[in-house]
Amino acid sequence: MLNTDNNRHLINILQLDLLNWFKTAKRNLPFRQTKDPYSIWISEIMAQQTQIDTLIPYYNRFIDRFPDVISLAAASEDDVIKAWEGLGYYSRARNLHQAAKMIVADSNGIFPNRFDQLIKLPGIGPYTGGAIASIAFNEKVSAVDGNVLRVISRYCNSFDDIGAAKTKKSMTQWIESILPAAAGDFNEALMELGALVCTPQSPKCLLCPIRCGCQSFSSGTTDQIPVKKKKQKQITKKMEVGIVKQNGGLFFIRRPESGLLSGMWSFPIAETAAGNGNDIKKKLGDYFPALSDPVFIGESRHVFSHIIWEMTVYGFNLAGMVGETADIPYAQTAADVSEDQTGRTQFKPLSAVDDLALPIAFSKLLTLIKDF
Ligand code: SF4
Repeated sequence: MLNTDNNRHLINILQLDLLNWFKTAKRNLPFRQTKDPYSIWISEIMAQQTQIDTLIPYYNRFIDRFPDVISLAAASEDDVIKAWEGLGYYSRARNLHQAAKMIVADSNGIFPNRFDQLIKLPGIGPYTGGAIASIAFNEKVSAVDGNVLRVISRYCNSFDDIGAAKTKKSMTQWIESILPAAAGDFNEALMELGALVCTPQSPKCLLCPIRCGCQSFSSGTTDQIPVKKKKQKQITKKMEVGIVKQNGGLFFIRRPESGLLSGMWSFPIAETAAGNGNDIKKKLGDYFPALSDPVFIGESRHVFSHIIWEMTVYGFNLAGMVGETADIPYAQTAADVSEDQTGRTQFKPLSAVDDLALPIAFSKLLTLIKDF
């Protein structure tokens, strides 16, 4: 990294040029109109896996629905998940909800105003904590995301792997050693420069406000930096999905509290090698003692960040169990479409599935099964 003691003059120019550029070049985003930590928090969590342009309507809707930490804390988890629908990575919404409840319980809804307090909340790591603390409260802490890592790697002509924890740590320390009094603006300016000018491919160096001090630009290495080692390959899993329908009700189960899509409603699903419907039938046997043979309905594919599900969907009838007096576990008679006593399974008519906030992996199957 650039030695800050020997390059104080360069650092002063960097601060000045970057802050001046940010004043006029920053995008006019709804969460830039406020210093409210709650709004900044929601926008930062949404921005973790979603492009800024894409998240704006989601952000506006979410803030309309839950305008402050108290309304978010008072909502049901299903309502929060529903408001998050379409953004994916639902653990973010669940963490927001948990953190809101903690803020209300611990400090009557007054938002923590220090980095060290913020990072104790679920879902708030050093980046988000730094962004909220510096932007809302102007605390002198850094907020280092992928954009910032790229800008600083290039500015310092660093060939360190930006995926490595020690690189992130040393860059975080370096940025904190050069933060000006306007720490929030400086952090945002670095992020904005990375998003608009110092882009991953073809950085617009000739338009860059910090070009004069950029070591990578002067060395001609901008196309080699940042260095990022290849990510682990995605794993493809063959899955069977079981659709059990009785008198208009579809059978849903809640997923385990940890792991992929944790705690969300889903159709029963099982990993399979054979792909003939018997693996999901076996799993459904935990709930239904007698089922028809699987009937092939269709296929679908869903890509998560590290796993791909190749799903084959099978339909089942509750053999010999028609009618309200049938002896089905968990009181799941055809007439009972509400949650069962365990809260882990339920029948729900297709027309009411919208209330479930079904993950996209499963909601995309609804068109396949509408005629089943
Ligand atoms: S001069 Fe080019 S490489 Fe250097 S910070 Fe600016 S856009 Fe990035």
